[in-house]
Amino acid sequence: MDQQRMTTLLDSLDGKGYGAYKRLKGEWSFPRFSLFVDYVQGDPYAAPSRLRAMIPPEVAALPADLFRTRPRAIGTASFMARRFADRAVDLSAGTGSGNSGRIRIEAPGQAVFETTALQLHPDGGVEIRFGVGLPAGGRRIRARAAIELLTERVPRAIDESGLSTAYELAELRLHAETNEDADALRDQLRDHRWVGFVADGSILPRRSGIDDRPLDTGDAVPFESPPALRAELDTPNRGRVSGMAIPRGVTLIAGGGYHGKSTLLRAIATGVHNHRPGDGRERVVTDPAAVKVRAEDGRSVAGVDISPFIGPLPGGADTTALSTPNASGSTSQAAAIAEALEVGATALLIDEDTAATNLMIRDRRMQALVPRDSEPITPLIDHVRGLTERLDVSVILVIGGSGDYLEVADTVIGMRHFRAADWSLRAREVVESHPTGRVPESSGPLSRPAARLPHARSIDPSRGRRSVRIRCRETDAIEFGETTIDLRGVDPLPARSQTRAIGLALVLVRDHLEQGATSLPEALDRVEAAIRTDGLDTLSDRRPGDLSAFRRFELAAALNRLRTLEVRASREDS
Ligand code: ADP
Ligand code: MG
Repeated sequence: MDQQRMTTLLDSLDGKGYGAYKRLKGEWSFPRFSLFVDYVQGDPYAAPSRLRAMIPPEVAALPADLFRTRPRAIGTASFMARRFADRAVDLSAGTGSGNSGRIRIEAPGQAVFETTALQLHPDGGVEIRFGVGLPAGGRRIRARAAIELLTERVPRAIDESGLSTAYELAELRLHAETNEDADALRDQLRDHRWVGFVADGSILPRRSGIDDRPLDTGDAVPFESPPALRAELDTPNRGRVSGMAIPRGVTLIAGGGYHGKSTLLRAIATGVHNHRPGDGRERVVTDPAAVKVRAEDGRSVAGVDISPFIGPLPGGADTTALSTPNASGSTSQAAAIAEALEVGATALLIDEDTAATNLMIRDRRMQALVPRDSEPITPLIDHVRGLTERLDVSVILVIGGSGDYLEVADTVIGMRHFRAADWSLRAREVVESHPTGRVPESSGPLSRPAARLPHARSIDPSRGRRSVRIRCRETDAIEFGETTIDLRGVDPLPARSQTRAIGLALVLVRDHLEQGATSLPEALDRVEAAIRTDGLDTLSDRRPGDLSAFRRFELAAALNRLRTLEVRASREDS
C-alpha cells in the first residue's frame, strides 16, 4: 500500500467513528521509507498510536564510520533521536481532541543508551519508532488533519532526522566518536586496576536537582586532577586524555560541607553510563559494576543475609535471611550492600548524606558506652578492608564527618572549593598524630552473600484479567500487577525508558525462574544474554519505542523492592 492509498483510505474515513482508524494498521510505502502502523489507539485521549519508519541504508546514506562499531552506532542514534524529538515538537499541532496531531518520541536525556526509539542497523538502515495522536473532532475522524499529519508532517520529521542530508556530518561524528571513546576509556579501567577515571576539564555539577544538564560554564569549576593521581589514557578518537585515576581499594572523598564531595561521587556513580558530548561528564567513566547504595528506611527486604553487618536482633529476627516490610535505616543499607554483592557488584559507592550513621561508624566512646554484646551492628568501617582485600570490591565513600575512616582508606581525595587534592599522605599523618583508640569489631570474614532463589509465583505482573499489566507513569515507580515498586531509593534513579524496560524485564526474570534458573544472579544472566542476542525487543512483542538498555543492578534493585517478593535461601539449605 502506498502513500496515495493512505490518502484515499483516510478520505473515506472522514467523520466516521474513531475505531475506523484501525484500518491504518500495516505497512505503507513512502518514497523514502516504509511506514508501519503497529498499533492504533482506541480513542483520541488514549496513549498515542505507534508508528515505525524504516529508512533503507542507501536512502539514509550515513557514512559507514557513524555506525561501524556498536558504541558509534549508539552515539549516532542517540543524537538522531534527539533531533527527531526536536522536530516532533515543531511539527506537532493540536488538531482536535485529546492528543490529536501530536508527534512524540522517547527523547534521550544526558546519558547515551541503546534505545528502541531510534536504531541504526548494522547495514546502515535507520529505524525510528514514535507515537502520533490520530486527529479527531470529539471522537470522529478528521481526515484532512490526518492526511496532513501522516503524509506531510510525519515524513518531514523523518526526513529531517533520519537522513544524513539533515546534518552537518561533523556533528554526528562527534556523537559517534565521543561515545566510542567513553567505552574505550571504561574498558581500560580493569587493566590498570582503577575503579574510575575523571578527565581533566570535566564539568561535574548539574544545573539543579531536577535538571541534569551541566551547570553553566561561567559558574562551574572544571575538574582538575590532583598531580599525584593524574594519569593518561588513550582514546580511539581524541588521543591521550589526562585525568584523575581512582585506584581500586578504599577511597574517601573528604572535605568541608558544600565543597563538592557529593557532586564528585554522583559523577562517578553516573560514570557507569556514557554521556553526550557537551554534558561535561562524557569522559568520566566508572567500573561498570559499581553500585551506589544508601539507607532507605521503610523499604521491604526479602530474605537477605545481612548478618555480617547486623547480628541477631532484639526481637529475635534472623538476620541471615532477613525479611521485613519496613526496614530501618541501617538494615536497609546493609540489605542494599548485600543485594549489590549478590548480583556481582565490584565497587560500592556510599555518600554519608544518604547513609545510616550507625551502620557507618561506632566510635571509641560508643564502644565504651554500649558493650559489644548489646550492639548487633558491625559498622561498615570494620568491613571495608575485607571488602577490598578478600572480595576485591572497591569502596568509594564521601566522608565529611567521621575521621575514623582515615584509618581504613587507601586513597583520600580532599575537596576544597570544588578542587580535588590528594590528601592520602596527610591523612596517614593525622592517623599517626591523632590516635582514636577505636577497637576494630570484626564479625568474622566477609564473603559474597549466597545467591537467593526467588519464588517465581511471588513475581506476579497480573492484574484482573490481564496476565501482564505494567505501567511507568512516574519516573520513580513501576506499577507492577497489583503493586507498585518504589524506586526512590535507587540512586541514581534510572531514566524512565530504562525503568520501563526494567518493568518488562521483571517478567522475563520470572519466566527464567519458572523455567529452572536456579538463582537470582542466574536469572539475571539469562535476561542479559537474551537482550544481548535479540536486543531490547526480546522484552516485548509490540515493538515499543520507549525502552532503553539498563544494568542488571538496577533490575535487581527493582525486584528487591517488589513487596510481594519471596525467596528461598541458596540451594545448599533447601
Ligand atoms: P558537599 O557534598 O561537599 O557538601 P556538594 O557536592 O553537594 O557539596 O556541592 C555543593 C554545591 O556546589 C552544589 O550546589 C553543587 O552543584 C555545587 N558544585 C559542586 N561542584 C561544583 C563545581 N565544580 N563548580 C561549581 N559548583 C559546584
Ligand atoms: Mg554532600
